[in-house]
Amino acid sequence: MPNVEIIAIGSELLLGETQDTNTFYLLRKLRDLGFDVFRTTLIGDNPKRIASTIQESLERSDIVITTGGLGPTVDDPTRDAVAMAFGCKTEFKEELWMDIRNYFDKMGRSVSENNIRQAYIPELAIAIPNPVGTAPAFYVYKDSKLVLSLPGVPAEMRYLIEHSGTDLLLKYFPTQDSILVKTLHTFGLGESVMDEFVGDLEKSSNPTLGLSAKQGIIDLRITAKGKTKAEAERLLNDFETEVRNRLGDNIFGVDDETLPEVVNRMITRNYVKLNVIEYGTGGAITKALSPSSIQTSSVQEMPDMSFSFRDHVQNIKSKMEIDSDSPLLICAIFPISDSFIRSEIYLRTNRKEEYAERNYNSLTFSVDQTVLSAFEMIRKAII
Ligand code: AMP
Ligand code: MG
Repeated sequence: MPNVEIIAIGSELLLGETQDTNTFYLLRKLRDLGFDVFRTTLIGDNPKRIASTIQESLERSDIVITTGGLGPTVDDPTRDAVAMAFGCKTEFKEELWMDIRNYFDKMGRSVSENNIRQAYIPELAIAIPNPVGTAPAFYVYKDSKLVLSLPGVPAEMRYLIEHSGTDLLLKYFPTQDSILVKTLHTFGLGESVMDEFVGDLEKSSNPTLGLSAKQGIIDLRITAKGKTKAEAERLLNDFETEVRNRLGDNIFGVDDETLPEVVNRMITRNYVKLNVIEYGTGGAITKALSPSSIQTSSVQEMPDMSFSFRDHVQNIKSKMEIDSDSPLLICAIFPISDSFIRSEIYLRTNRKEEYAERNYNSLTFSVDQTVLSAFEMIRKAII
């Protein structure tokens, strides 16, 4: 399977002024086309450094895709850098210059002398006209390796990949391989617990299993490769079944599904209406619930450090006349020292009642963590 490297060019990217969305887009695109990407690089507008980066990438990989640095100014370095990497010069292309002038005419703008730079491409390169902008793209195919240089403007880059880049890649590197990816989501299992469940599966080479954790959510990403889509599907399904056998109910959703979405759907389907009482959350749980699933809601200030959540819950239960068919969710976050925040949740359904509590570092705590914990409790209670 051919290997690709992506080089995103632009000093603004290295300065953190512009986010490198082009690499992100290309990674998805290449994955769907069945190409392996093992490495990506971010580099500033320096022709020599770019040239040596391209050479290094070509030693490791079959295909190098660059984005950026094709503008009309002196410091747009990609044309020179690619020429340097192949040991050739750049050369003026009359037909590109015509395209550029036509583009400006069509837009009712006057072309500037600078734009003539964009009509130069490396001698070994073949131009790819750019009908959606002024910067022509180009590619060099030499010694069974391909360098494809695309503009940095994200819309132009995407257009050129869709309309010429994909065909070009598949012409030189026909791949029938199909790659399928599915992500399963879990919440609240620690990473070490997860390792016990699926540690051996993480060593599999096809499909592969990758774990990533964020705010208590652990994602399991299954990537399957096959000679045909059907083969990839079969591999993925078998592997997914194995993962599901091990994790069972802990998997709350797949791909784009979020925990609140899934739980709201379950609540609606089960005609449940919750009584919600929140302290210190600013009403975050009430906001995340769909309005049709709330019976009553009360949002209160954050209690002080002396607050005892369990005493408080007992108090509420003895004082309030709450319809026992409607679940009761009480939730509080409050400081327990200068550095720690405590999050406590109580859930009573007609089947059981339970508490969940956890301390968080106040510097990194986000109320979303409490919201997710509350939703996971509701989910487990409804299942
Ligand atoms: P350039 O082709 O380098 O002249 O880039 C044109 C514009 O595209 C820049 O001003 C950036 O705002 C944007 N751009 C360049 N590279 C990227 C990238 N990798 N991701 C997102 N935007 C980019
Ligand atoms: Mg640039």
